[in-house]
Amino acid sequence: MEATLSLYELFKQKPIGSRLRVYGWVRNYRSNRFIALSDGSCQAQLQLVIDPETLDPETLKAITVGAALRATGDLVASQGKGQDVEIQVTELTVLGTSPSDEYPLQPKKHSMEFLREKAHLRMRTQTFGAVFRLRHHLSFAVHQFFHQRRFFYLHTPIITASDAEGAGELFNVTTLPHQQAPTDDQGKVDYRQDFFGRPTHLTVSGQLEAELGALGLSKVYTFGPTFRAENSNTPRHLAEFWMIEPEIAFADLQDDMDLAESFLQYLIQYALEHCADDLAFLDKRLAEEEKQLPKEKRQPMGLLERLRFVSQNNFRRVSYTEAVDILRQSKPNKKKKFQFPIDEWGVDLQSEHEKYLVKHFEAPVILFDYPARIKAFYMRLNEDENTVRAMDILFPGIGEIVGGSQREERLDVLRNKMEAIGIPEDDLWWYLETRKFGTCVHSGFGLGFERLVQFVTGMANIRDVIPFPRTPGNAEF
Ligand code: ATP
Ligand code: MN
Repeated sequence: MEATLSLYELFKQKPIGSRLRVYGWVRNYRSNRFIALSDGSCQAQLQLVIDPETLDPETLKAITVGAALRATGDLVASQGKGQDVEIQVTELTVLGTSPSDEYPLQPKKHSMEFLREKAHLRMRTQTFGAVFRLRHHLSFAVHQFFHQRRFFYLHTPIITASDAEGAGELFNVTTLPHQQAPTDDQGKVDYRQDFFGRPTHLTVSGQLEAELGALGLSKVYTFGPTFRAENSNTPRHLAEFWMIEPEIAFADLQDDMDLAESFLQYLIQYALEHCADDLAFLDKRLAEEEKQLPKEKRQPMGLLERLRFVSQNNFRRVSYTEAVDILRQSKPNKKKKFQFPIDEWGVDLQSEHEKYLVKHFEAPVILFDYPARIKAFYMRLNEDENTVRAMDILFPGIGEIVGGSQREERLDVLRNKMEAIGIPEDDLWWYLETRKFGTCVHSGFGLGFERLVQFVTGMANIRDVIPFPRTPGNAEF
């Protein structure tokens, strides 16, 4: 019997002259003779050439866009343009028909908004095939990078009682009834009667637990789902996203920045090496999209050019103080073009400012030493007692892609800070004990995986780089 090959294997081996069996879905069908077949295993489509005389009319009629097929035939060098091999079909079976007047994915351009509503089918398109193959390769590269450097993959809890960011964007987890939840003497919900005996929620970050891991295993990382109930509809926020959080003992902020920079460059380089076809397709796609935009909105580099640039050039490291000076003196600030004008030191930077800085330096930027006031309690206080050893990495077109810091390792300083902002010691007694017993300098960061996939694929909206996006009002599929 003939061998069955995925299209990926077929194009890799190109066993011209062999009889083969293939499976896939019809992308296009023309002249009653040429079928463009795709099975999602690679970007390329396979041309099947059929002889209408040899197929029964029922089968012929059932070959429509979207139908699932099995085909057997001989692989030959192609006469036509656009492909170097094709299959001369000797046997063809329609495994699943696709009523052509109803199939939503016709061979024409569909908008991303339309395809989001067809998320159950959009993985059959070339664009989403490319995006999700890349997403896979990037996840694999994440594990490879850390594994090679002897970081251990630590699975931190998804249900948790601690709120690392103190951001209050929590999805509560409870088994108490919605109506008539038990109450205590003060009339408040009595969580002692809840499943865990206390209020719990879905994790917003695995960092605090990853720190516990690093303070025993030296180098760990997490890579898991993360949940934030942020009610903001932006092209870079999801309610459910995946975050990678390495944490390293005996490492300061410099080491942390070095790690983050080489990690990002490794991932991009990996994609360039392993996903060349998909990136070439996405590069062309983005170039066409950009043509529709007014000149000032276009990105200065194409996708591939940008990926090469970022993977080969050092990131610019700039302190928050320097950045605020640059922003204060900037044209858009003076001309009141920023929605949030920058007038004094200490303000939080908005996405418009991050984008300005990336443009200004024409490179990814690492901002460090932020005002303590606008950053989380666990970041290490500098000697000036005003700034903390925090760093954010800003990427072209994306803005913040990484947020990290050196962690406060001094028990008394940490206690004072928690007290000042009202975090009860009882909530984090275990975290404090790591500072009491064998504390050490340590650091880590969080990379939003979807923001990375956005950068590498050039997709404008974060909803288009996760198979089934969760955003306010959306939990279909
Ligand atoms: P932003 O200011 O963009 O909301 P953040 O400061 O809240 O980010 P961190 O708490 O530092 O982000 O989280 C680390 C990383 O996780 C961010 O750099 C970003 O890449 C990613 N991230 C944060 N929130 C989201 C979200 N809602 N959806 C997707 N990725 C996110
Ligand atoms: Mn946020």
